[in-house]
Amino acid sequence: MYDLIIIGSGPAGLSAAVYGKRAGFDIVVIEMNPMSGGQVLNTYEVDNYLGLPGINGFDMGMEFKKHAEGMGVKFANAKVSRIENIDNDHFNVVTDDDSIFETKSIIIATGAAHALLNVPGEEKLTGKGVSYCATCDGAFFRNKSVAVVGGGDVAVEDAVFLSRLCEKVYLIHRRDSLRAAKMLQDRLFACGNVEVLWDSVVEEIEGNEQVESVKIHNVKEDKHETKAVDGIFIAIGLNPNSGFVRDIVECDDGGYIIAGEDCVTKTPGIFAAGDVRTKGLRQIVTAVADGANAVASVERYILDKQQK
Ligand code: NAP
Repeated sequence: MYDLIIIGSGPAGLSAAVYGKRAGFDIVVIEMNPMSGGQVLNTYEVDNYLGLPGINGFDMGMEFKKHAEGMGVKFANAKVSRIENIDNDHFNVVTDDDSIFETKSIIIATGAAHALLNVPGEEKLTGKGVSYCATCDGAFFRNKSVAVVGGGDVAVEDAVFLSRLCEKVYLIHRRDSLRAAKMLQDRLFACGNVEVLWDSVVEEIEGNEQVESVKIHNVKEDKHETKAVDGIFIAIGLNPNSGFVRDIVECDDGGYIIAGEDCVTKTPGIFAAGDVRTKGLRQIVTAVADGANAVASVERYILDKQQK
């Protein structure tokens, strides 16, 4: 019986593992992908993590894992298929190959995946001008032309953010009105170098080694055009990786596990850390902070149970 099982080995999960070891827990991290790091691995360069300016995302993931391994954290490579609550006393974590891990508590740190456009060129040019994070990668496009896809808060915030760095920003949105908050829209329309391409969808992202242009279809006027851009930021929402636990923890309409800064979910003994939980800012630094907060909550939970 483990004290704590951590599901996921991105920044939140690995931070929780380090804090968990320091708390003296017997723990195992179950990771689906043997290359720990989560979304960080796909980030060309991380320039906003304090003390490590310009670190390569892959190297950062490896450093995080090395830290956890150096503290003696055990890893298991498996996909978790479900969690079973055993008499409100402990949990069985069941994996795809029918292995069962028994534990007193669980931190879910499975993250979220950026929704994909699924258009030609997107996969090939990811990290080569196609990005899903303006705050991470925007600085690489200083004085260049970029496109942002989407009409929600993130797309509009990204377009405003990029307008300060880039010469020209196209916001490509599939409808004739934005979903983003009014205040954000006001900020967007005040930017002189942002052009909104309404009723438009991306047909293809073009380029050999780097993004060079984007093919757009105006669905209302049935017109096709190509815009020369150096980068394209896709901000059409996130998909939290919570499908396997929706029967045991409460999630919001978007599938995020409902939990506050303390990472406590509505199911005693199960905690949620990082991008998979409801939160305002999904960044490496906030995921790492969640790992620490989640373990502090696990310590309180286990102590309370022992005293009962
Ligand atoms: P979102 O609100 O779900 O918006 C996604 C946008 O992408 C929508 O405009 C949608 O178009 C468009 N879209 C979806 N699928 C598409 C596709 N296949 N092709 C083209 N366009 C597509 O997602 P988000 O902007 O990432 O925000 C996520 C959540 O975080 C939201 O609840 C948001 O309010 C919140 N958030 C809040 C703040 C803030 O309060 N400052 C900041 C950031 C995020 P339609 O409009 O046509 O559906």
